Amino acid sequence: MATKITHWIDGKSWTGTSKNQGQVFNPATGLQTGEVDFADIATVDQAIKSAKDAFPMWRDTSLTKRTQIVFKFRELLNAKKEELAAIITSEHGKVLSDALGEVTRGQEVVEFACGIPQLLKGGFSEGVSNGVDVYSIRQPVGVVAGITPFNFPAMVPMWFFPIAIATGNAFILKPSDKDPSASIWIAKLWQEAGLPDGIFSVVQGDKVAVDRLLEHPDVKAISFVGSTPIAKYVYENGTKNGKRVQALGGAKNHMVVLPDADLDLTADSAINAGFGSAGERCMAISVVVAVEPVADQLIQKIVDRMGKLVTGDGTKNSDMGPLVTKQHRDKVASYIEAGEKAGARVVVDGRKVQADGAKEGYWLGPTLFDNVKTDMSIYQDEIFGPVLSVVRVKSYEEALNVVNGHPYGNGTAIFTNDGGAARRFQNEIEVGMVGINVPIPVPVAYYSFGGWKSSLFGDSHAHGMDGVNFYTRGKVVTSRWLDPSHGGINLGFPQN
Ligand code: NAD
Repeated sequence: MATKITHWIDGKSWTGTSKNQGQVFNPATGLQTGEVDFADIATVDQAIKSAKDAFPMWRDTSLTKRTQIVFKFRELLNAKKEELAAIITSEHGKVLSDALGEVTRGQEVVEFACGIPQLLKGGFSEGVSNGVDVYSIRQPVGVVAGITPFNFPAMVPMWFFPIAIATGNAFILKPSDKDPSASIWIAKLWQEAGLPDGIFSVVQGDKVAVDRLLEHPDVKAISFVGSTPIAKYVYENGTKNGKRVQALGGAKNHMVVLPDADLDLTADSAINAGFGSAGERCMAISVVVAVEPVADQLIQKIVDRMGKLVTGDGTKNSDMGPLVTKQHRDKVASYIEAGEKAGARVVVDGRKVQADGAKEGYWLGPTLFDNVKTDMSIYQDEIFGPVLSVVRVKSYEEALNVVNGHPYGNGTAIFTNDGGAARRFQNEIEVGMVGINVPIPVPVAYYSFGGWKSSLFGDSHAHGMDGVNFYTRGKVVTSRWLDPSHGGINLGFPQN
């Protein structure tokens, strides 16, 4: 029987007035496991009102107390993270170890947010003029919202809400309708940690909920992560309505392999970054740019490793789970067909996979293409599945032009033993996150995550100091405590 999944408002489960619902499936079995309510405008308004009412008290709660609650949330999360990982696997399909890894990376942002007293310290200048001191403070912006994708139902929300809440805001999460249960588990954990009602809310839903968050005047900032067309839409509409918006979009991540690279390390990395989470990661490697003469040897090493991968149910001992929905599986398979038709060579065909799981699961095995040209759709588009393309080039310069010529600029990596070449690459590449012999260069929590070009709209990256600044506004106070030596009239600017 399908479980009912609904909203979380005012510290409780909230069915509201939703008339539309979505279906939630277990991708490893193809069976429907849940039915999720889609918020209408009245439900979103209710969440915003509850957040707005709760905000002043939370803003004025001492830093010590706020930090204690965030710390308690971290302790509970750490103790119970297997529960959350199991929920992720049951609705997303990724293998359990990967789901646990996602929670751990999200937890790192919670740990960063536990240091918020230090991060919020302002500057102080004594005696800038006679008897005058100046100091800076940062204050929360108010009600803020996060709109997140299916591929990291716990980690991506955790890029945002720990910092938003620690800095004193009220946060509303609109998760993906494909794997919504993690959001409710997280809401209950906040309650157990002692967070006041209204400071963390969840509205489930689709475009209706997103549009309402974008237009409602009481929502002051929006953090979005998802595909590029929707990121652009959210950025344009949110900013048009006067909100702060950070909108992280899609990706096509290249791994450049120079002739002097360690090809065993490189092949391992291509496998891990290409097929982990079935390629449904915004930092997945989807193109290997092989600088000749390495391609033949590297492809052989990748193929040898692909032969050992087990595609199957994420709760078993598989390396790679199913894709998230049947529609998405079919879309990725249609790219394989298109690549073949366009003349790329299918070296390993994931459509023929024998999966270790139920017949109705959304299976697609790891796929490898050789001789991919940059005008093919398998090169141009974000496929978001276990499909790795090899583009052969003759020189470093050609490799650089390939990567810089692509509209996306999320992550990239270079594999080489030449420090000078790596240093040149980090300088010349037009991509937000760069790995040197590291295939998935996701920044740790105290740095900020974000791409360039069509992979990010807005100036602000996620977490780290960018996150602290995004969720706070600066204020500078100039103060003078009067004593009898002051006074007199002077209409000019003070100069000493
Ligand atoms: P998506 O764009 O379909 O959905 C993202 C969010 O937008 C969801 O909450 C969804 O409900 C909402 N949404 C969907 N259609 C909408 C519409 N028409 N109007 C308003 N809101 C809408 O993305 P997805 O399929 O859930 O996730 C995969 C995408 O996310 C990939 O493109 C991937 O690269 C990207 N992603 C990017 C990053 C990053 O950091 N840059 C991280 C993770 C995922």
